[in-house]
Amino acid sequence: MEYLNLVQLYQKLEETTKRLEKTYLLSEFLKTTKKEDIAHIVLLLQGKLFPSWDERKIGVASRLILKAINISTGITIEKIEQEWKKTGDLGLVAENLVTRKKQVTLFSHQLSTQKVFNNLRKLAGLEGAGTVDKKLQLIAELLTSSKPLEAKYIIRTLLEELRVGVGEGSLRDAIVWASFGDKIGLKYLSENKIDISSREEYNHYAAIVQRAYDLTNDFSSVAEAAKLGLKELEEIELAVFRPLKVMLALKVKDIKEGFERCGKPADIEYKLDGFRIQVHKQGNKIKLFTRRLEEVTLQFPEVVEYVKKNVKGDSFILDSEAAGFNPKTGKYFPFQHISQRIRRKYDIEEMSNKFPVELNVFDILYYNGKNLIKEDFQKRRELIEKLITNKPKKIQVVTNLITEDEKKVEKFYKDSLSAGNEGIMFKKLDSPYKPGARVGHMVKMKPVMETLDLVIVGAEWGTGKRANWLSSFTLACIDEDGNFLEIGKMGTGIKEKSEEGTSFEQLTDELKPLILSEKGREVKLKPKVVIEVNYEEIQKSPNYSSGYALRFPRMINLRLDRHPSECSTITLVEDLYYGQKKK
Ligand code: AMP
Repeated sequence: MEYLNLVQLYQKLEETTKRLEKTYLLSEFLKTTKKEDIAHIVLLLQGKLFPSWDERKIGVASRLILKAINISTGITIEKIEQEWKKTGDLGLVAENLVTRKKQVTLFSHQLSTQKVFNNLRKLAGLEGAGTVDKKLQLIAELLTSSKPLEAKYIIRTLLEELRVGVGEGSLRDAIVWASFGDKIGLKYLSENKIDISSREEYNHYAAIVQRAYDLTNDFSSVAEAAKLGLKELEEIELAVFRPLKVMLALKVKDIKEGFERCGKPADIEYKLDGFRIQVHKQGNKIKLFTRRLEEVTLQFPEVVEYVKKNVKGDSFILDSEAAGFNPKTGKYFPFQHISQRIRRKYDIEEMSNKFPVELNVFDILYYNGKNLIKEDFQKRRELIEKLITNKPKKIQVVTNLITEDEKKVEKFYKDSLSAGNEGIMFKKLDSPYKPGARVGHMVKMKPVMETLDLVIVGAEWGTGKRANWLSSFTLACIDEDGNFLEIGKMGTGIKEKSEEGTSFEQLTDELKPLILSEKGREVKLKPKVVIEVNYEEIQKSPNYSSGYALRFPRMINLRLDRHPSECSTITLVEDLYYGQKKK
């Protein structure tokens, strides 16, 4: 397919905020896309080159893009920088400058989606000597052949900032409409209205597509299977080394509510304050993933060993919490002590001695070729108890209690807190595992007020002794289409020195590569970094796009283990706002 066709779709998608219209545009496009193109086109539509769990990253800095624009247009770097300062958007800069160049050179090749995709993907595979030059060559080759609008979207894809508003929900629905629209008698009437012959039929096909997505976390393989047929789609299965989205818990206020949600008796477990690890094993190979679906096998060699030595089975997928503990006293550490291990690429052994973790396994999703997510929780729990040899401070099945007695739970809760844990979990004995869903059959109870997980979308360079650090961070929550909505600015809770916790310097190091544009002291950032935030109160506010503002927000943790798409939703913010008014 010609890249220009895709670019025209990007433009139309960018022009509308209406979810139904976006879905319609996408579904019509998918219908006309050929089988051999569909996989890479669905990735490009999301501004991606790889499924989210793939370790490969594009890894192109803004500086390199400036140079590539310079090579392909002949315009000086200084001039390009000036333009960049004006608009703050390198995509627009490329569009404008390519326009000017095109008035001089009239000739260019027609770019195909496959060519764009291949060149961009090659960038991720480059390593070693001469890498920068090769990257420049690959980007410049595309820019030289591109029309102005094409240049804009190539640059935005490179920066992982496509901004055409294709959320998971609209893409899933578009695949349903494109593949089964006829079967469900779907008619698109207007941007606010569709007609379908049967809601039940619609839900049936939507569930089939959703299931395939939950198991793969990759819309490109889902769309490809759907193109082949219903059978192929239904045959998509869970696979080892392809991480699943984790199941999330709702919060309850007390033990009574916990039992109301999960029934009596229920399984009650320690809720450890660590981070989630999904363990995949096949034969001798083991891979570890965070709940962001990022691979962290290299960062946690001791966990790989614990699993190898103490868990029976040829192949399995386990769900667990890695909890950090003080190697001297054995007491659990709060999450922030071990958070630095998640990204660490060097001194791994030293880190594992200083900040050891204990793997607490609480679920199993796959065992020796069998998908277990529909089995009852109790059966899954019994299986892990059989497979795992408990080795405290290394690996164990998470501490639990199956009971219907509120008094016993009260004691268990207190024990859990005094052991340094965050609280307890309630789990319904006959419940399935629902990947990616926040469910009411697994709930959490903890003493502190609900914190928010927010994404940093902007910041300001500090002044005085903080001149080299970013400070005053603009925070955002997310809506159901994946748009980030601002909810306030935060400058407290970050430390001056890294020994005391997450420091300005550490945050600056995380955020600097994400700078999209700068104006004066203000910078706009790619929404990638999630932090956990405490606050005094939520207020209505016209100053932020969410319509809300946090009073006295304060950072508690840098959550490198969380993906921006799983940050707190605007619905949660609204619920908390109305909840606090009731009190
Ligand atoms: P929260 O982060 O407050 O939404 O709580 C949910 C998180 O608690 C999960 O994502 C896990 O990382 C963690 N967790 C700790 N202990 C358990 C447990 N026993 N069962 C399930 N999740 C747990």
